[in-house]
Amino acid sequence: MEILGIPCFFKAHAQAKHIRIRFILSEGIVITYPKKVSDEKIRTSICKQKDMIANKITTLAEKGQLFYLEKKLPQMLEFKAFNTKKEISYQYALKSNLFAVNEGLIIRAENEQEQQKILKKWLLTYAQEQLLPLCKQYAEKYNFSFEKIRFGTQKRCWGTCTSKGSVSFNLAVLFIPFTCIEYLIFHEFCHLEHCNHSDKFYTLLEAYLPDYKAREKELKKYSIPAWLSSNS
Ligand SMILES: [Zn+2]
Repeated sequence: MEILGIPCFFKAHAQAKHIRIRFILSEGIVITYPKKVSDEKIRTSICKQKDMIANKITTLAEKGQLFYLEKKLPQMLEFKAFNTKKEISYQYALKSNLFAVNEGLIIRAENEQEQQKILKKWLLTYAQEQLLPLCKQYAEKYNFSFEKIRFGTQKRCWGTCTSKGSVSFNLAVLFIPFTCIEYLIFHEFCHLEHCNHSDKFYTLLEAYLPDYKAREKELKKYSIPAWLSSNS
């Protein structure tokens, strides 16, 4: 279900006392309600709060945060760390194609699902061109040795590192500022040494990035866009 174009999720909660409507970046509108409440009552509650919902959506749009909430594919991508913007237009065509024009991209495919696939594939190539060399540069400079680096579209996770030394980053890393990217690279690389979030791990991280806490806080302003991790 969607409310004003934003995906909407319902969660019955044993401990909930009231019907509660929240906006969660990368998820959408999340409505939690006490288990025994009827559908009718939930619907009435949403209707009563429709102005609040509309206002919130306007505020999010003004802050440029609808980008994270909407499932529909973005018209504009901003790669903050690389000082690049790409305008994207979508066309319906039987044959799938991607054209680079001036500063933008034209994506042609028969439906939205295919268009999303093409966009993700393009982002993967872009990550391999932009992020991979950056990771290698840091690994070399600071003596980290990883097995391999891959890029994915997990729903909530910015990065992971396995005990075998395989590091993975979310493609959404492409959209965050450089200070946050640098933080994530060091965070995952420090996991090569300590596969947990122990005191030893944070001591090591702090040795590389004395201001890691500020960067962690900055990263919280960003989220993994719903259109990137959804399979629609
Ligand atoms: Zn971690």
